[in-house]
Amino acid sequence: MADLSPSVPSRIAPAPAVRLSSVTKTYDSGVIALGPLDLDVARGEFISLLGPSGCGKSTALRLIAGLAAPTTGSVMLAEGASASRPDHSIGFVFQEPTLMPWTSVRENVGLPLKLAHTPAVEARPKIEAALEQVGLADFAGRFPRELSGGMKMRVSLARALVTSPEILLMDEPFAALDEITRFRLNNDLLALWRSLRMTVIFVTHSVFESVYLSQRVLVMTARPGRLSAEIRIAAEEPRGDDFRTSVAYADHCRRVSEALAPAYAGASAL
Ligand code: ADP
Ligand code: MG
Repeated sequence: MADLSPSVPSRIAPAPAVRLSSVTKTYDSGVIALGPLDLDVARGEFISLLGPSGCGKSTALRLIAGLAAPTTGSVMLAEGASASRPDHSIGFVFQEPTLMPWTSVRENVGLPLKLAHTPAVEARPKIEAALEQVGLADFAGRFPRELSGGMKMRVSLARALVTSPEILLMDEPFAALDEITRFRLNNDLLALWRSLRMTVIFVTHSVFESVYLSQRVLVMTARPGRLSAEIRIAAEEPRGDDFRTSVAYADHCRRVSEALAPAYAGASAL
């Protein structure tokens, strides 16, 4: 009889949520932006891509999102993410909130559902739930111009969450916010990650932010971006202000800064 003991599946490494194999990207202009890049992100993991401006971080996210194709190599998503819900498996949060100024918060958050032709009666509770998740349940009828920068970013996050994505890609989402607002959003993002169990790939050029948020920080070289270091951030969960002021946090930040320094030394014209 076949051995169906529970230990069997645990010996098989689960498929990563995202796998980049020898990925390179050369733009039509001739700029070699990326790679070769090899990267596995486990399901439910929170990682940061950290590197100097122009090293190919946004390019890497666009390739993962399928918004651009790699020049060589392959980008694979776990089956559950790519096959069963092709339109809904990835949420993308850009550096700018990119909201439609002429319409309400509700309509902005519902845009991905509208594009997927989700009937309004189905869309409505999903929009309400996403707004609830980002703490903006009472703001559905407001317009973007009535919101602060932090609230606009929350709307942008709700729009990414409204399809219940398995993978959330975030491209320097909080870079333009003041520090206190950024800290709050960091905490709220971690709480969402814990409760929704998403895979998060977070792009930043902030050492401090990458260490605070991630389980793993992947440091990139100057362009063409490759991975130069991987630093695991082992810290007690849930993380909060205690972690931000701890000696362990400072130590992690020092290690990551040291790993990042050569990338800046190698970046020309910076
Ligand atoms: P990062 O997000 O790390 O700042 P990007 O991925 O935006 O870096 O860009 C990497 C490099 O590719 C930069 O030199 C940038 O100028 C170039 N680049 C980005 N997008 C394009 C594009 N659509 N066409 C040509 N070059 C591009
Ligand atoms: Mg970028």
